[in-house]
Amino acid sequence: MARRPIIAGNWKMNNNKAEAKELVDGIVYGISSLDASKMPEVVIAPTYTALWQAYDLIKNEPKIALAAQNVNPNPSGAYTGEISLDMLADFRVQFVIIGHSERRQMFGETDEFINQKAKAILAKGLIPIICCGETLEQREQGVTDSHLENQITKALDGISASDVEKSVIAYEPIWAIGTGKSCDAVEANRTIGQIRKVVAKLYSQDVADKIRILYGGSVKPSTIVEQMAQPEIDGGLIGGAALKADSFIDLIKGAM
Ligand code: PEP
Repeated sequence: MARRPIIAGNWKMNNNKAEAKELVDGIVYGISSLDASKMPEVVIAPTYTALWQAYDLIKNEPKIALAAQNVNPNPSGAYTGEISLDMLADFRVQFVIIGHSERRQMFGETDEFINQKAKAILAKGLIPIICCGETLEQREQGVTDSHLENQITKALDGISASDVEKSVIAYEPIWAIGTGKSCDAVEANRTIGQIRKVVAKLYSQDVADKIRILYGGSVKPSTIVEQMAQPEIDGGLIGGAALKADSFIDLIKGAM
């Protein structure tokens, strides 16, 4: 069964109001001439402050979906600085990135908290993009596969097969994020194949065949075609190269 590719742009903490408008306008313009039937699913993850504006700019453009970069799994209450799923649903956010290494490393997010978020996101009918990835040290120690198995097993704990098959995983080796040094496409394909085997072991081959697994880590227009040619890679989660409309459009074209 063919899995529809995803090209997702993670803006991180970039773009003020004017910059966000320029970028979304540029993407809307760039994809207007692309054949929707051949396009990957296109997702943009602006900052919270740009979500309303992005929602407004794309509301008549079904080729683009919105993602949030984070969410708090609690429904409401005394969580200063946090955003709930209800609030995201107001802006027709369809995806939420969770478990990004920057949140794990800089904000101390645990596997258990990421699992709580995944469950809350799915309960609300949204789709989690669950990030996992190893450090350079772990790769050099040869523990990449076991580390990823541990992260994925904990992230999916207690989630039903029907929810897992519609979820998205992003394999993002930490040493490749924002470094300009993308993981070799064949090795990324092998590693994602291993993640798919973990899903098959936890659930079934059918679920593993359905779940979409993206690669992230210095994806660029010059790397995307080779990456997309790999059978296990179902698209990209992209940071730096998603911040300019031309380059984001080239990434979308590279996935067609
Ligand atoms: C990311 O933000 O998840 C990412 C992979 O960033 P970059 O493409 O800049 O490496």
